[in-house]
Amino acid sequence: MTTVAADIEIRDPATDELVGRVRPAGPEEVDDAVGRAVAARTGWACTDPAERAGRVRDAASAVRAQAEELAHLNETETGRPYDDGLGGVLAAAGTLEQYAELGPLHRGRSLQGSWSATDLMVPGPRGVVAAITPWNDPVAVAAGLIGAALVTGNTVVHKPSERCPHLGRRFADLLASFLPDGVLTVLDGAGPTGALLSAHEGLDVIAHVGSIAAGRAIAEAAAGTGAKVLLENGGNDPLIVDDGVDPQWAAEQAALGSYANGGQVCVSVERIYCHRGVADEFLAALAQEAGRWVYLPAETGQKVLGPLVDDRQREHVHSHVAEALAAGATAHAGGELPAGAGAFYPATVLSGCTPDMRILREETFGPVAAVRVVDSFEQGLAEAIDDPHGLAATVLTPDMAHAQEAWRALPVGTVKVNAVFGGAPGGAAEPRGLSGTGFGYGPELLDEMTTTKVVHLQPAPPRR
Ligand code: NAD
Repeated sequence: MTTVAADIEIRDPATDELVGRVRPAGPEEVDDAVGRAVAARTGWACTDPAERAGRVRDAASAVRAQAEELAHLNETETGRPYDDGLGGVLAAAGTLEQYAELGPLHRGRSLQGSWSATDLMVPGPRGVVAAITPWNDPVAVAAGLIGAALVTGNTVVHKPSERCPHLGRRFADLLASFLPDGVLTVLDGAGPTGALLSAHEGLDVIAHVGSIAAGRAIAEAAAGTGAKVLLENGGNDPLIVDDGVDPQWAAEQAALGSYANGGQVCVSVERIYCHRGVADEFLAALAQEAGRWVYLPAETGQKVLGPLVDDRQREHVHSHVAEALAAGATAHAGGELPAGAGAFYPATVLSGCTPDMRILREETFGPVAAVRVVDSFEQGLAEAIDDPHGLAATVLTPDMAHAQEAWRALPVGTVKVNAVFGGAPGGAAEPRGLSGTGFGYGPELLDEMTTTKVVHLQPAPPRR
């Protein structure tokens, strides 16, 4: 049986100061949480959709009212700059509100076999959903999975990341205060607790957002229980910079994609293929842009680069950078471990990166722009495609034929043309390859959270 480790210590990654400790849930607590979710399942499934939605809408209002407190906790536990964290909390409230609108409208289809014979396709809740979430956008990601599960009539056991357990518990408790007992419970703990939960036979769905390794372990556990698995894993997103773009604008886009949230966004730019025609100017502008991303206090015109989530993450990032430099890459900015307290890492620009380097092959998840200069758009596209991940990709090009070619050819769930971030609020995303399976966002997540019963309805038989 999986054993659960000792207490988990959380330190502020900006100062190394102790924030608190939590005791990871063991087998009894996991069993109890799932048991409560199972007991609450029928009552919640039979609750009118409009009432379920109303409760989720009220919870969204409470999240808005507590947004500052939640953003502050986010900063203290994970180092995410306060304004970014506030944006994440408000996005979470918006997502809950969207699902509250969409839940009661979620409907099935029908099919006519003959004038008097109808197939009804009726969606219903799957049952008990485990929502296992990461630390890098903790409130918005949790709100999406939990909101979609609740409005479709599922009960939820939530295990937030062990790197922000106080935030995870505060958010879940806030939501749970608007729900009947057992409809949403929360568990503290790290991977071992997540593993106990994933292997539990009382679950009907495991929705995981996080690393590829954890996603794999969850899929293996679910294979033994029959639970449906939704996996939104990490990526290794390419950015293609085509000939003819303004190099300054492209550098600003590359910096935003590489450095926002310290590069700790699932769809951060992880590798850059830059056309030789603009490469010199692009690299010079990118190095200048990197200089604008600074630790607090930031001045006008500068952008805040918070610490990485912890020293473990910083070691991981620096190992990729150091290995690339040792193998012949050049640093145009950053690339060195700063002295002093905190898990800070500078905005870094590397050129001379080659396909064999881990910095181009694996997710770095840090503020690093790793550039490879290519001789043609076709070479950049071919190298961008040659990767087993499948989360997202960006192409910056003034050439619509290249844009069309890229979005059709890239084997990823989301292609962004001429902006590294964006997309409509409530937009969907379905990863491919190592990056996971199933819709983790948008109205399509409501389909994932429901199962459809087909009813063959025939006319009444002749009476005797
Ligand atoms: P992680 O996989 O380490 O942890 C995520 C969650 O899974 C945590 O709650 C953790 O305790 C749990 N967990 C870990 N091992 C487990 C196991 N064996 N069984 C069950 N649960 C387990 O990931 P992280 O470091 O918290 O998050 C960063 C990763 O998440 C990055 O790879 C990032 O790209 C990815 N991410 C993806 C998306 C997306 O939408 N695709 C969004 C955000 C983050």
